Amino acid sequence: MYAELSLYEKYAVVPGTRVDLSQIDPNDTGDFATKKDARKALKKLRKKLVDLQERFYAWDARSILIVLQAMDTGGKDGTIEHVMQGTNPQGVEVTSFKVPTAEELAHDFLWRVHKAVPPRRMIGIFNRSHYEDVLVVRVHNLVPETVWRKRYEQINDFERLLSENGVVLLKFYLHISRDEQARRLQARLDDPNKRWKFSKGDLEERALWDDYMAAYTDALSLCSTPHAPWFVVPANHKWYRNYVVASILVETLEQLNPQFPPPEENLDDVVVV
Ligand code: AMP
Ligand code: MG
Repeated sequence: MYAELSLYEKYAVVPGTRVDLSQIDPNDTGDFATKKDARKALKKLRKKLVDLQERFYAWDARSILIVLQAMDTGGKDGTIEHVMQGTNPQGVEVTSFKVPTAEELAHDFLWRVHKAVPPRRMIGIFNRSHYEDVLVVRVHNLVPETVWRKRYEQINDFERLLSENGVVLLKFYLHISRDEQARRLQARLDDPNKRWKFSKGDLEERALWDDYMAAYTDALSLCSTPHAPWFVVPANHKWYRNYVVASILVETLEQLNPQFPPPEENLDDVVVV
């Protein structure tokens, strides 16, 4: 008998180790043979998630911050849509990080991020994040290396501060292959309902694929910590990607074991008139 690895353990980047993305199969589908099986399993997980989120919200003790990073077409939007389906919108907030504004650029790179960290009881989701400041910024030399080099440690310090103040962090890198990105970009061009998502700039970024992989490798290797782990999620199959993210989130919530707060005393005698 061997103990079955949870998906949390299976896909977490072990702190202090070097990730080799070329050795992690984006086509991995774990224990699932078919899309149908994974979809069924995801449905079950979502039921658990909805129940746990209700307790988590009522508990009002911690917050959860989910960071989503991926190459273009990697599935950040789809993950949010499919994993969080059915949860109470009042307890979830999504923040998408775009090219920084002039005001944001006039501050340190974590300023806009810190403001968006979810308060107690909320599940916050970052669609892109402070990691852009060691990804796109590094690949395009938007600041000198002496500046971005320091950021890995600054990020670790920042995330430790959050963790010590009640924020539970989960960071997902949605791992697609270069070929899969080509298929998805082509699909965006071909489908009139998807064209709005296509930007010619995506092709310029695609040409820098290897530079991005090098930058991701450093971010994942240098910034996976016990209190803010990175997960490399096989993401060529959307149904498996959704299942993995949902599963790690549910496992985290189960560990937290949120409880409904005790009701006011002597409610048994109360009559509603
Ligand atoms: P999208 O996610 O497709 O709406 O695109 C958002 C764009 O903003 C992407 O091209 C990101 O690389 C870019 N972006 C996000 N954060 C930063 C940042 N800190 N510095 C420069 N560009 C960024
Ligand atoms: Mg885009």
